[in-house]
Amino acid sequence: DVPAHIIDGKALAEKLRGEIASDVSTFTNESGVTPHLAAVLVGEDPASAVYVRNKERACANVGIGSTLHRLPAETTQAELLELIGQLNANDSVHGILVQLPLPAQIEEKAVLDAVSALKDVDAFHPENVGLIVQGRPRFLPCTPCGVQQMLIHHGVQTAGAHAVVIGRSEIVGKPLVNMLMQKGEAANATVTVCHSRTRDLNDITRQADILIAAIGLPLFVKADMVKPGAAVIDVGINRLEGKLVGDVDFDQVCEVAGAISPVPGGVGPMTITMLLRNTLTAATLLRKTS
Ligand code: NDP
Repeated sequence: DVPAHIIDGKALAEKLRGEIASDVSTFTNESGVTPHLAAVLVGEDPASAVYVRNKERACANVGIGSTLHRLPAETTQAELLELIGQLNANDSVHGILVQLPLPAQIEEKAVLDAVSALKDVDAFHPENVGLIVQGRPRFLPCTPCGVQQMLIHHGVQTAGAHAVVIGRSEIVGKPLVNMLMQKGEAANATVTVCHSRTRDLNDITRQADILIAAIGLPLFVKADMVKPGAAVIDVGINRLEGKLVGDVDFDQVCEVAGAISPVPGGVGPMTITMLLRNTLTAATLLRKTS
């Protein structure tokens, strides 16, 4: 058995960020406008703070401006909606990102729905989700799009392949399933979606030519769940004994899979890269409509 090829998300993210930087520079030279992302962070969750900081740094590296709006943990829903309204109305803000999770007193859906669909760089707004389902996306959701890019650049054939997605969250699993079943590049797959109520999970995952794990359980996918030669993409980010690990037991699955993405250095860096791409898209769209 040959060990699996590594699907290196970090290297691909760097390459794509170089391309985005060049596109941002062209856009800014032509329009005089610097694409700008407004990030909203409510409360003191340390992981969220790190994510937001990474996103801001990534923006700066490709020439995208960003502003961080930090609100206290006791912020009310009305106060947050007020800020979203201001950002929606501000022509120099092109993308709006609300870092999740929000504190319990705030209803997540109400806030995400309030973000202008034209500035919704996470693609969470129902209008943008609808456009994805209809196969005419405005923004592609960052993590699923990152997964698709990894498949494309690694030369994994999706057309006609059986893709099994474990997880059906609004952020990862569900949009990814929608995207993989569309017509077009990195799509045309036969898609099966699994979740916590799926019976005989291993029997299904063993049929996958492409297996994508977005579960949130450390090292959940074992070698006996994987078809020899399959491409395995690990979306999970979990902390186990102080270490970051994925949803896939990399050490054993890499002996069976044909290709596998590591954690860290896999989907994570791709997610932020797609956020940068969406922010540029938002700036371009806003210029066209104004
Ligand atoms: P959620 O908790 O929202 O969803 C997890 C999904 O896994 C659910 O659909 C759940 O099923 C399913 N699931 C849970 N247990 C099982 C099981 N035993 N068997 C089969 N399915 C199961 O998580 P997210 O989608 O938000 O995130 C998933 C993982 O990806 C996390 O580790 C997260 O940290 C990571 N992540 C990584 C990102 C990146 O940039 N790399 C971005 C976003 C997330 P059910 O619906 O029935 O509850």
